[in-house]
Amino acid sequence: MALATKVDALIVGGGPAGLAAGIVLSEQGLQVMLCEKQSYPIDKACGEGIMPTGVAALKRLGIYDLIDHNATHPIRGIRYIASNGEQAEAAFAEGPGLGVRRTALSQALYNRAQQCHRLSIHIGCEVGGICRQDGGFSIKLGDRQIQTSLLVGADGLHSRVRRFAGLQGSKSSLMRWGTTQHYAIKPWTDHVEIHWQNGVEAYVTPLGLEEIGIAFLWSPGNLSKGPLLTKLLDQFPKLAQKLVRATPIGPTRAIGPLHQITRAQVAHNIVLIGDAAGYLDPITGEGISLALSQAIKLAHLPSFQQSYRKLVRHYYMTTRLALLLAKFPARQSAAIQFLGRHPKIFQRLLSLNMGNCN
Ligand SMILES: Cc1cc2nc3c(=O)[nH]c(=O)nc-3n(C[C@H](O)[C@H](O)[C@H](O)COP(=O)(O)OP(=O)(O)OC[C@H]3O[C@@H](n4cnc5c(N)ncnc54)[C@H](O)[C@@H]3O)c2cc1C
Repeated sequence: MALATKVDALIVGGGPAGLAAGIVLSEQGLQVMLCEKQSYPIDKACGEGIMPTGVAALKRLGIYDLIDHNATHPIRGIRYIASNGEQAEAAFAEGPGLGVRRTALSQALYNRAQQCHRLSIHIGCEVGGICRQDGGFSIKLGDRQIQTSLLVGADGLHSRVRRFAGLQGSKSSLMRWGTTQHYAIKPWTDHVEIHWQNGVEAYVTPLGLEEIGIAFLWSPGNLSKGPLLTKLLDQFPKLAQKLVRATPIGPTRAIGPLHQITRAQVAHNIVLIGDAAGYLDPITGEGISLALSQAIKLAHLPSFQQSYRKLVRHYYMTTRLALLLAKFPARQSAAIQFLGRHPKIFQRLLSLNMGNCN
């Protein structure tokens, strides 16, 4: 018979949301177990630009100082470049954000989580079958039966916990995908540079002294057949020109569809956080910041659902607006021209995106 181990909370997924949740819940005095199917440090398709609110959350959680800053670059703001060459840029009013390699972020999160005595992390452990038991939940881990009264789904975009909880919403018609590639080249910008084309965007993030990351967001209908990265880069001749002598680093990663609709984030002792809680699009670069802020709100579990709605309200508003512009190139260029002439308004929009409305 399997040995039974009881914990107060079981977290599925050890990305930014899951590890931050582990730190917060164990700080609350709970005995927490976290299962992550990969091993650390974990890489992922991501633009790797953390907004100033996310940097503040990293500091609040004691993670910031553990990051290997050779794999980071300060980000002063955002620059948009339209297909007709029109440009707009604004600095963050809140201070700098941070470009950071996912592996460096993952390692720092993991190192910080390991300092938490009440948190046990199980690596290479994919949570499959979850059963309801005595008002709580149980999973099988090797020859052990793990029982918990609180289940936290931090298992990313295509969350299994979300489906188990019956919180999966309807299927979205928005079919956007993300693809990323790193290059060895001295960054030419201390802004996240966003190049817009017909239905495809390229996000350039500085990540260190000699590295940049490019994330493409695209819809299958907007690309012809052929090798994915070449087809994406073909859309941006000026950017491609800058990369002629740059060596690609590591593999090309892709993930999608990105839009995941969720009916709610809390149900019968199950809480969803991070991408598992629902995701619209990375177009405004808020995912990591939101995942960390949501984890911090787990300290007040009874009000989590309200806190969640408050946290994501502005993200959904500005992201919908940006997606609308991404769809219509003519409006896009006009909007970028307008923002270029009014950097203060652009700066206010960036603050609004982070939930800072003052
Ligand atoms: C192309 C692209 C660009 C982006 N750009 C940015 C950006 O510039 N800035 C930003 O802030 N955000 C960006 N994001 C969003 C950001 O990557 C996510 O919002 C963030 O990673 C969410 O963290 P998470 O912990 O919720 O999910 P994840 O990082 O996906 O972590 C989930 C973890 O759960 C694990 N897991 C899954 N299933 C199981 C299971 N059954 N058992 C055990 N473990 C499991 C996975 O292995 C994974 O480690 C981007 C996303 C994409 C796709």
